[in-house]
Amino acid sequence: MTEDTKVKYEKPIPLKTIDNAPYWDAADRHELALQKCNTCEGYNHPPGPSCANCGSTDVVWENLGNDIRGTVYTYVISYRPFLPGFQNDVPLVIAVVALDDSPDVKIMGNVLHGNKDNITVGTPVKMVWEDITEDRALPQWELL
Ligand SMILES: [Zn+2]
Repeated sequence: MTEDTKVKYEKPIPLKTIDNAPYWDAADRHELALQKCNTCEGYNHPPGPSCANCGSTDVVWENLGNDIRGTVYTYVISYRPFLPGFQNDVPLVIAVVALDDSPDVKIMGNVLHGNKDNITVGTPVKMVWEDITEDRALPQWELL
């Protein structure tokens, strides 16, 4: 595939930082990794240099694999493309999803391929990974 035939990805690509790189590296492999606190044993998401719950810096990464289920905690439907690249995606469902196995962890993403009229608070979804470049992927959601 030559440079000319690639579809250019125009949307923002999340930056990897020292705090979040394991999260995005796992996403690139189509897996979910979460930061976990060794002191209070809770997940710390979004990740940071220390636990948002107890302040401990004794945090590690746990791989949760690729079978991730959740329920819609809240959502909005965007009818206007506020950034370049989204003009063909509207209306776009942007959801905050609580993980079934750990409801305190909420992960934002788009609900892809679904009828927006079928989405409400409590709708069950599963995580999918959208390949956006040759080496990057975004965690997203699909209706179960
Ligand atoms: Zn903690």
